[in-house]
Amino acid sequence: GYRRRRERLLALNKDAARFFHEKLRAPEGRAGAEYLFQKRGLSPGVVTRFGLGVAPEGWDNLIQAMMEKGYAKRELLDAGLAVDNKKGRIYDRFRNRVMFPIIDLRGEVIGFGGRVLDDSTPKYLNSPDTVIYNKSRNLFALNIAKKSKQGRIILTEGYMDTLSLHQAGFDCAVASLGTSLTQEHAQLLSRYTKEAVIAYDGDGAGMKAAQRAIPILEKTGIQVKVLQMRGAKDPDEFIKKYGREAFAKLLDQSENHIEYRLRQIQVKYDLSDDAQKVEFLRESAAMLSTLPSPVEREIYGGRAAQAAGISPQAMAQEIQREYQRRL
Ligand code: ATP
Ligand code: MN
Ligand code: MN
Ligand code: MN
Repeated sequence: GYRRRRERLLALNKDAARFFHEKLRAPEGRAGAEYLFQKRGLSPGVVTRFGLGVAPEGWDNLIQAMMEKGYAKRELLDAGLAVDNKKGRIYDRFRNRVMFPIIDLRGEVIGFGGRVLDDSTPKYLNSPDTVIYNKSRNLFALNIAKKSKQGRIILTEGYMDTLSLHQAGFDCAVASLGTSLTQEHAQLLSRYTKEAVIAYDGDGAGMKAAQRAIPILEKTGIQVKVLQMRGAKDPDEFIKKYGREAFAKLLDQSENHIEYRLRQIQVKYDLSDDAQKVEFLRESAAMLSTLPSPVEREIYGGRAAQAAGISPQAMAQEIQREYQRRL
């Protein structure tokens, strides 16, 4: 039945993870091990805790090993570990990559991400959605971060960001793995924390993704903050360049999401120009009018008014008008 099939796939994934992990100590896994330890500077402790591994070069290393253990081709395909070439032949999905197991809240390996060792593309390959893995319902490292005593969750984009943060002592980091954050992700996070700090990449894509994630997180009632990445493109690179103390400082300075959004709006306008000032106030009012809390609307409305040199009353009216418009 369905239960039995699920259990088989979970067992297969666990055996696959063990296979990849053991290859770190095998000659054919040498390049991958060097990549993780030397090139990316991961410690043996983190590599073990996260069960990282390497998929060696070749078309069917994993398939052969798993078939020897009694798994069927069908199961390898269903787990997303093998791919069909449509001519009746199957081959390993993950070849010549370092491997990151994705582990659910019960500790089961439900999928994998794999990264190339150089600049070739695609840089990352993830398991497809399967009977046991749904990317919109799972976050990388939440199985570990849920036990953190740090009182918040740090939300990153990537595997390496999360791993570097854990290595630096921030055991509350998780990653959404390039997929945009879903309402289900947010709901899941809200079960374990009252505060989420978005620490996405500092590039345009990361900033856009942060803007999209804010209202999704806010809806669950979590306090949302945004960390401003400076001097590095992502948390992994930042920690390597400046160290953990500097990252702790960034974390302390992370802004409440409303301050962050107001500032994002403000930088688009020249407030010494009257027409632009009007646009700034209109856009700010539209954003503030979506806030559920009247207190927040008043406080941050006042702040926008001050930036533009108008009265808080006029701004309150503008917010009210935007609110009515949306009804
Ligand atoms: P690295 O530091 O290893 O170069 P990164 O995590 O900084 O990688 P980004 O390009 O910032 O890489 O992407 C963030 C995340 O998005 C990755 O960790 C990965 O989960 C996902 N991702 C990136 N590129 C791809 C891709 N081509 N296919 C699928 N997922 C991807
Ligand atoms: Mn990115
Ligand atoms: Mn990176
Ligand atoms: Mn990145």
